[in-house]
Amino acid sequence: MANFKSKLMTESQTSSNKTPVPQITLLRRWSFFFVYLLFFPTLLQLIFGVFSFSLEEWGNWFGGLLFRGLPGALLLLAALRLPRRAAPVLMGSVCTAAALFNLLDIFLLVNFGTLFDYGTLQLMCIAPAGEVRGFFQLFFMRLSTWVILLLYPAAGVIIFTVKKQKLFWSTLTILTLGVLIFFNCTARESRSKVPSPAARMKHFVQSWQKSRRQITMDSTSAALQAANSDKEALYLLIIGESHSRRRSSLYGALRDTTPQLKKLYRSRQIFRFDNAVTPHVMTQLALPGMLTLAGKDIENFYKYPSLPDIFRKAGFKVWYIFNQMPDTESALPFLAAAKRSDCFKSFSNPVIRYDVQMLNEVKKILDSPGSKKFLILHLKGNHWKYAETFPEEMRHFSLTPGSSSKETLLNEYDDSLRALDAFLFQMLQLLQARKKNAFLLYLPDHGEALYEEDDFAGHTDLFPTAASAELPMFLWISPSFARPELLTAVQKNLKTSFLSSDLPHFFMELAGITSPLFAPERSFINPRYKKTPRRVSTRGIDYETMKNKTTPISEPQ
Ligand SMILES: [Zn+2]
Repeated sequence: MANFKSKLMTESQTSSNKTPVPQITLLRRWSFFFVYLLFFPTLLQLIFGVFSFSLEEWGNWFGGLLFRGLPGALLLLAALRLPRRAAPVLMGSVCTAAALFNLLDIFLLVNFGTLFDYGTLQLMCIAPAGEVRGFFQLFFMRLSTWVILLLYPAAGVIIFTVKKQKLFWSTLTILTLGVLIFFNCTARESRSKVPSPAARMKHFVQSWQKSRRQITMDSTSAALQAANSDKEALYLLIIGESHSRRRSSLYGALRDTTPQLKKLYRSRQIFRFDNAVTPHVMTQLALPGMLTLAGKDIENFYKYPSLPDIFRKAGFKVWYIFNQMPDTESALPFLAAAKRSDCFKSFSNPVIRYDVQMLNEVKKILDSPGSKKFLILHLKGNHWKYAETFPEEMRHFSLTPGSSSKETLLNEYDDSLRALDAFLFQMLQLLQARKKNAFLLYLPDHGEALYEEDDFAGHTDLFPTAASAELPMFLWISPSFARPELLTAVQKNLKTSFLSSDLPHFFMELAGITSPLFAPERSFINPRYKKTPRRVSTRGIDYETMKNKTTPISEPQ
């Protein structure tokens, strides 16, 4: 792109040295770039938006037309009103910025079925620089990324170099067809509609305003009723991160990635649940359902009572220990629910540490005065970059020399699982030593895709895979657990379908919390539990269909 840009600069400069070029000629010379900038966004909108029309969309189209006119008007103004030397600079900046923006849009659309918006910007801002870089590196391994990277500037070069009108239009037609075919091949069934630029601008501003609003959940606890008759209790909820059920030996994976948990399971010391699924394959979207009674209404989660509030009302002291990304409240709104605890402690500032380093803090809490305690530990877990989730001395599989980049990634993931396994084992030992009425429930926010389908590793809510939606989940209870009658129910429902947005109800039943808010039809160990179809992702994909359609999955052993 730099080449033809410089060619253009010299062209306008050399001609201006000889005789003054009429401003209109300058504008004509730039017109190719203008066509180029309009070409892709218009085409995307045609491909993704043309199939359904509503009045509102027509309005958006009109608005979009006006909005598209803006850079055009800016170019026109620059060409006609600015001094000849300044005009190309401004025009060049406008065009370059617009071209980069287009390129980012196409990249996001092909890989995630979404366009650049405020949410994407926020994610980029809160993620450590290394993570963003690594994330793009991951996608540079994909063919589609290279097609975009070559096609986009190629289109520009062709539009610029083709002088003859006839050739120009036929090239444009061929390009259009090429792009249509390309998107049909890569965009899969998403067909997310591309909103007009005006609609996007409105959405961007709205999300920005929403993110600046401080979410407080004080009012949700005002009329809350919850009770618990335990004399003493020690209940733990451990929330993992990106934990793949399929790669865990607890669930039959051949590699021994979770040796301790497997042993505990085989000696019947923990209950393993085989049919847990998340409705959202992304932390920010999964946690509101796990921490509040919002259920599916995660947009308005802050209007519902939170798990910490319910436990506090029932006489517990509640801790929430957070070891994820730095807690930028606007980017992780669910933290408003976490902060309803008596004590919220973030381990992630200033540096994210290994989960195992939380043990000392947990010990202190267990030894502190108070008879009824509820702890939520939110782990760094097995999030990418996997190698950063365990200390060097814990390398086991990733010591294998001569591995391909894919094998290395898998080895590092498996080592990350071993570190989690060791941490959970030590947690259980702490609890066992205390001989109290206690239980510990573990489940992650979502799973992780590791090349099961599409040659893809990671997780995205827009393109969920069965492996990234399935959750490993287990329960440990102490010998002096207060509600032994529940054990038969637990035992009977190890394979019952469960959606993690129903977690608060299941958890209330385990902890013996009575409240008008408790919905027995949403607690999968309750006789009144009602199975409902499980939808995954904001696109509402049926989990069973996804599971059956994508890859044959061996049932857990
Ligand atoms: Zn997550």
